[in-house]
Amino acid sequence: MSSLGKGIAASSIGALLQLRGYSIKMKKLDPYINIDPGTMSPYKHGEVFVMEDGCEADLDFGHYERFTGICCSSKDSLTTGRVYQKVLDKERHGDYLGSDIQVIPHITNEIKEFILRNSDDIDFTICEIGGTVGDIEGLPYIETLRQLSIELGKSKTMCIHLTFLPFIRVAEELKTKPTQHSVKQLQSMGVQPDILLCRSEKPLPDEIKSKLAMFCNVDKDNVMAALDANNIYLIPNQYHLEGLDKQICKHFGLSNDRMEKQVDEAIKNKWSKLTDIILNPRKTVKIAVIGKYTKLKDAYISLTQAIAHAGYANEAKVEISWINAEDEPDTIEKKLSEVSGIIVPGGFSSRGIDGKLLAIKYARENKIPFLGICLGLQLAVIESCRNVAGVTNATSREFSKSGTFVIDFMKNWTTSKDSIESREEDGAKGGTMRLGSYECKIAENSLAFEVYGKKLITERHRHRYEVNYEEYKDIITKSGLVISGTSTDGKLPEIIERKDHPFFIATQAHPEFKSSPLSAHPLFSSLIKAAIAKEGN
Ligand code: GLN
Repeated sequence: MSSLGKGIAASSIGALLQLRGYSIKMKKLDPYINIDPGTMSPYKHGEVFVMEDGCEADLDFGHYERFTGICCSSKDSLTTGRVYQKVLDKERHGDYLGSDIQVIPHITNEIKEFILRNSDDIDFTICEIGGTVGDIEGLPYIETLRQLSIELGKSKTMCIHLTFLPFIRVAEELKTKPTQHSVKQLQSMGVQPDILLCRSEKPLPDEIKSKLAMFCNVDKDNVMAALDANNIYLIPNQYHLEGLDKQICKHFGLSNDRMEKQVDEAIKNKWSKLTDIILNPRKTVKIAVIGKYTKLKDAYISLTQAIAHAGYANEAKVEISWINAEDEPDTIEKKLSEVSGIIVPGGFSSRGIDGKLLAIKYARENKIPFLGICLGLQLAVIESCRNVAGVTNATSREFSKSGTFVIDFMKNWTTSKDSIESREEDGAKGGTMRLGSYECKIAENSLAFEVYGKKLITERHRHRYEVNYEEYKDIITKSGLVISGTSTDGKLPEIIERKDHPFFIATQAHPEFKSSPLSAHPLFSSLIKAAIAKEGN
């Protein structure tokens, strides 16, 4: 079921196989009917993760990239909507030569083709199937698994079932029934799990493992505990100690004792310093995030992860103070007075912008380290134009029908990909955004250059509006903002900063998508460093 951690389980398996020297690919099959998650509300489904190629994907791709360091692409993400779209396009094109189109074989063949595509030079393709066993939408995917294990053979395929063992407090017992039933469901569809990965809050007693092995038809060594962890980056090692990667390799005939020792060493070398910092941080620092979706933490998952990574880079634990942008100004200011750094993250629509503008003003006036991300940059420009340059009606075309549009649609600019781009007001939602990786030129003698240490960087984007520098250069300059990063044609401001402040920087991109636990993003680690310096500890 959702929230059980399939994404983190799949990512951890990927990371462990990489440590054994294997190359991997991560793919996600989502049974919902949307074409992609781009138009889904982050409040319900969590964040939309943006890949290098601009694909708007499920947030699990963020875990894949953070745990394994590989770059995923639109070719690795499939939804039912996409499968049907493809099959229907073929049908209109006459590719099926008059035959009637059915779930089996036409839909399942498309899914199969997706799983096998681009895997020739890869040792392992790890496919995560979204949803819950038994969901109507999921049936074609499970059927495809069944077919694939016949076509490729058992020695080339493996099914890992992530399942839940609830702990019933009054009985002080872990219950195996939900797992028994979901395995029965799978078996009724012709799929036998090879490994049971059992999410539980308590260790699995031996008799529970025996019971699950017996009733689920699984080798007892392949019944594994996936215990709740305090920190997701402790999970690969936890799985390793449980024997997961060893059992996977055994299944494929790839395990031997010498290799096990090597893997123990490799895991130690790669993760032990991080584990030490996670478990024994040298200091704590408090950062405020002012947003609209603060109740559902998954809505900002890459952001929270990037903040945590930045903490690790500074050997610190970062506590996030979540501030609801729609709270009363007094409540917001009180919370802001307790933090050493402020982040205004990305967002859409005018709801909550007053709270965010207030936070930016507070950071600017009180010299609190500040990082603005995408909408956070746009609002930083609006705040400075209104409160420093005195243009009180400065705004974005996203929020208002009239005013001085310092943030606007930008027409006809040349991208780093050498194409002319333009966005317009009436463009359909879910296809009009600047998406994916773009190059940015950084000015020397700037905070941005200090942070990145480079003159040319790339970052991922997901937004419709831009800073209207061409038209309002004078106002923006008067407001004290300096443009320290631009698009390669020099037209679009990508990074802004203030010289009259110890650390005030904002980016039009989403740096949080490119941070990982072992390699924190420099913007975040510099913010945390500045926040620690501010606290004087
Ligand atoms: N709503 C703004 C835009 O579309 C910012 C988007 C974002 O923060 N990702 O330009």
